Amino acid sequence: MTEMTEERLAMPVEVEKISESDGLLLDERKPFDFFFDEKDGVNGIGEVAVNISLTRSGEDVFAAGQLSGVVRLQCGRCLEEFDQELVATVEEPFFPKSTGLEGAAETDEEAETTPDEGNLYDGNTLDLFDVLRDQLYLAIPLKPLCKEDCKGLCPNCGASLNAGPCGCKPKKADPRLAVLKSLKEKL
Ligand SMILES: [Zn+2]
Ligand SMILES: [Zn+2]
Repeated sequence: MTEMTEERLAMPVEVEKISESDGLLLDERKPFDFFFDEKDGVNGIGEVAVNISLTRSGEDVFAAGQLSGVVRLQCGRCLEEFDQELVATVEEPFFPKSTGLEGAAETDEEAETTPDEGNLYDGNTLDLFDVLRDQLYLAIPLKPLCKEDCKGLCPNCGASLNAGPCGCKPKKADPRLAVLKSLKEKL
């Protein structure tokens, strides 16, 4: 069972390789499609820079650092595509999964001290993949804006108002006109 789990680890780190005195520094670049597949709809440009520092105390591991990369997004107001730099901060603890038989006497105590939050790892290897992927995904804005004050599109002609006024006269729907119009249509 353990072997099968380990085969699926996408970003494995052997806990023993994390020095208790110096930690372990991960400094690598991964393609966006390492983290996301097509149905995630993430349009990454270039690669994701992974800078994670791992520290360890006994079997408890703490991962801290940053992921950064550039994604192409579509502005929710003017529909223009634009590139945005993402910076995702990672601060995640990892704890060994207490296995039933192993150290059964200790588990009572450990169960109380192990916080609910935190990631569990099996055996001697933890997988950073889910944590990194989730943080990167969360860094992508849900309602992207090409700029804070994007003026959006003219509701009348559809032109982007960021380039300047489109020439349409500001037309406010007049409720009285609407009544007249519907009367006309009935005639
Ligand atoms: Zn915009
Ligand atoms: Zn217009």
